[in-house]
Amino acid sequence: MEAPVTDTNRTESTHDVDLDKVRSEILSKYPTKVARKRAKQILVKPGGAGTDIPEIGANVRTVPGILTQRGCCYAGCKGVILGPTRDVINIVHGPIGCGFYAWLTRRNQTRPASDDSPNYMPYCFSTDMQDENIVFGGEKKLKQAIQEAYDIFHPQTISVFSTCPVGLIGDDIHSVCREMKETLGINIFGFSCEGYKGVSQSAGHHIANNGIFQHVVGLDDTIRGGEFRINLLGEYNIGGDAFEIERILDECGISLISTFSGNSTMEQFANSHTADLNVVMCHRSITYMAEMMEKKYGMPWIKINFIGARATAQSLRKIAQYFEDDSLTARVEEVIAREMPAVNEAMEANRPLCEGKLAMLFVGGSRAHHYQELFSELGMKTMAAGYEFAHRDDYEGRQVLSSIKVDADSRNIEELSVEQDPDKYRLRKTEEELTSTGQIYREYDGLIADMKPNTFVIDDISQYETEKLIEAIKPDVFCAGIKEKYIIQKSGVPMKQLHSYDYGGPYAGFKGAINFYREIARMTNSKVWSYVKAPWEKEPELTATYAAA
Ligand code: SF4
Repeated sequence: MEAPVTDTNRTESTHDVDLDKVRSEILSKYPTKVARKRAKQILVKPGGAGTDIPEIGANVRTVPGILTQRGCCYAGCKGVILGPTRDVINIVHGPIGCGFYAWLTRRNQTRPASDDSPNYMPYCFSTDMQDENIVFGGEKKLKQAIQEAYDIFHPQTISVFSTCPVGLIGDDIHSVCREMKETLGINIFGFSCEGYKGVSQSAGHHIANNGIFQHVVGLDDTIRGGEFRINLLGEYNIGGDAFEIERILDECGISLISTFSGNSTMEQFANSHTADLNVVMCHRSITYMAEMMEKKYGMPWIKINFIGARATAQSLRKIAQYFEDDSLTARVEEVIAREMPAVNEAMEANRPLCEGKLAMLFVGGSRAHHYQELFSELGMKTMAAGYEFAHRDDYEGRQVLSSIKVDADSRNIEELSVEQDPDKYRLRKTEEELTSTGQIYREYDGLIADMKPNTFVIDDISQYETEKLIEAIKPDVFCAGIKEKYIIQKSGVPMKQLHSYDYGGPYAGFKGAINFYREIARMTNSKVWSYVKAPWEKEPELTATYAAA
């Protein structure tokens, strides 16, 4: 019998593990049907130049019983997309337990224009449904909650989020919203984002995009100042990231009309159709909005990334390239030249402490890709990466979009039919003008293309698989979310939360890169982790195999 690849006495990270063997070992512990399913979602990136990007299983249901990283549809809608917008009262219609995701768990920050400007983000609004509301219906309670929120805060916008029990009993939140909108004379709308919809929080992102697009975007046609006007999509101002990006854009002379949705307001969303370019950070959560805005209002979109100093510089150049203006190009180059010395100094100071170390990233729908930039600037290798809620195009690139099979779970999420607005559509550039500069629009190559050969790409990783990777490879740092944090740390591996940044950040832009270099150097060189022994290092474990059928 072959010896297992996982070495229970390993305390140092290792580059030379046979990943195919680790994969087989992980899969061998699953029942046959589960193993078959997981095998499609666990890939070892093949080596060799010109190797095709392999197909990965993604955006499929998690097998019941497997401990997943994923959140629910409502968490994606309320927690991710609407969480960082300060001038809307977001009422969670459901039991108080669902309210956890309304509680700023991602550390989204915001900066109101003045002390008098509305900011409801520190509050958590819930209808706190009880048994009697489940039996007799909760619409009356929702109406009361909207009235109460209005009487206390006088907001201009209220939105309502359906949770699982509300969907099951059939409360019509949309008719309540319509009625209260008429009564109170403010914008009120609902999201049918019941937790059970779709297979992960990704469904909630889509529903949030649809709702904001239908009820808010396009309401204010005022053309605000600025020559180079963009919207930043898929940036959520965790730990102050948006403040750093805003600083850089401002120094470059680029006007930010709106951000979806870090440091944002409903007023900005309402005016966002007046911008000339959409730049997309998170490809998974917000590209729906970019596509719908292009169809209805005529502005194109490009994929950018402000995580990593080199990626930030490249993204600024891409924006300048779109506007084809020499003064903007010169200003962008000036800003890059001014910012890079401090970045290089920090990189040189911290790189010797990190060079050759291994990272693993399992988070989100773009972060596991974007953060590889920062690790590579430190000379670290990303040994394994994957997303919680991505679709195949986030891994393999948008060229596979037409070949993705739409299953019943995806069909359950409404695709809005969008047409050119007869009055507000303005074609910013013809297709010929767009391609004349050599820039590629509406494109994203996905995570797999950027992974090194002989590394793991794993979709919807489970807790068991996380432990097996740590056991086999012992990375120097593991990036994931709060549910994984303590399991990883108890295995003697430093863990960085990339949903909330723990207590750190910002990590975006130039100053964010410097913060990240320092923090990762500190974490990966701390001796404290060598004193923590993983359970399998301390005690022998019982193992078993399935009997032959
Ligand atoms: S899965 Fe359902 S019950 Fe659980 S938090 Fe999400 S909406 Fe609430």
